[in-house]
Amino acid sequence: MNGPHPMAPLVEVDHVSRRFVRRLNYAERIAGWLGVRVEEQVVHAVDDVSLTIHRGEVVGLVGESGCGKSTLGRMLAGIISPSSGSIHTFEKGAEPSVPGGKDQVAGAHAAHGAARRRLATQMIFQDPLSSLNPRKRVRDIIGEAPLVHGIVARKHLDAYIVDVMERVGLNPDFRERFPHQFSGGQRQRIGIGRALAVKPDFLICDESIAALDVSIQAQIINLFMQLRHDLGLTYLFISHDLGVVEHISDRVAIMYLGRIVETAPTTQLFANPQHPYTIALLEQVPRLSNRKRQFESIQGEIPSPLSPPEGCHFHPRCPHATQRCRTERPMLRPRGAAHEVACHLIAGHLVAGEGQ
Ligand code: SF4
Repeated sequence: MNGPHPMAPLVEVDHVSRRFVRRLNYAERIAGWLGVRVEEQVVHAVDDVSLTIHRGEVVGLVGESGCGKSTLGRMLAGIISPSSGSIHTFEKGAEPSVPGGKDQVAGAHAAHGAARRRLATQMIFQDPLSSLNPRKRVRDIIGEAPLVHGIVARKHLDAYIVDVMERVGLNPDFRERFPHQFSGGQRQRIGIGRALAVKPDFLICDESIAALDVSIQAQIINLFMQLRHDLGLTYLFISHDLGVVEHISDRVAIMYLGRIVETAPTTQLFANPQHPYTIALLEQVPRLSNRKRQFESIQGEIPSPLSPPEGCHFHPRCPHATQRCRTERPMLRPRGAAHEVACHLIAGHLVAGEGQ
């Protein structure tokens, strides 16, 4: 983030990477014993990402499938751990106000264990049916975690479940029903109710409306915004849908093949995109001004995260790529107020005549 932000930080992602190793199968191990050269494959899902999310903010995280946005969300939710780097979550009122304060807060936080972080950060998934236990009634899905974690006493549990169901727009008379007895939109409301029941600060919505009908999507977006207003929640809204992200987010981060390539306040990013990938993505968004235009997808395929290209990951698809882009990674650099871009071209370092 470039310059001071009016809101205190809630989460700081500090040079986080995540790699997944595909272990050799039995046949490959035997081939290895016989002298054939077989190596484990490493997926570079997230590559040295730093990002600060501020309290009360809605950050949209956008990119094509396989760009690592869901992996980043799962690390923030504590579902998987980073391979390297660190994630700091700050308690309310304990944000670092002086240089060096971060480590003290992170240390105090660590002492309370990962369980509290898991409660303070909740994830809402794309497919509500597969993320809900089909054998549990709604009252158990919503009520189990707050009871186990001592958020509500057993004698108050029923009233608490009624309150949560009303807050997410579900009829509490249906609390004895099972997930399959609800529609897709209602099931997503159950998932949101389950997350809210543990009183989180931070909701990570991973393509949470992508599987719903358009009219239901609008209802769930309105519910997210109402909950933000009522409860002061912070959101990371992971999506490939730029139209939705533009509508819902204060700030947008664009991700490509494991790296954040541009981040800016939403209005600024949509009015003045700077990274060639962001520009190409925005050109795909249908608008009144381009309704007669034929839309073309971005040239080329997204490369495999098993062997990402050297230098700028976008260079095989970028019309402006230079020799430098093929060998040197561009770092995120400030480009105006609260706007950062990772591109040699934008950083002003492109040497005239160096094009391909
Ligand atoms: Fe294109 Fe080079 Fe910028 Fe990457 S660094 S987006 S290849 S101009």
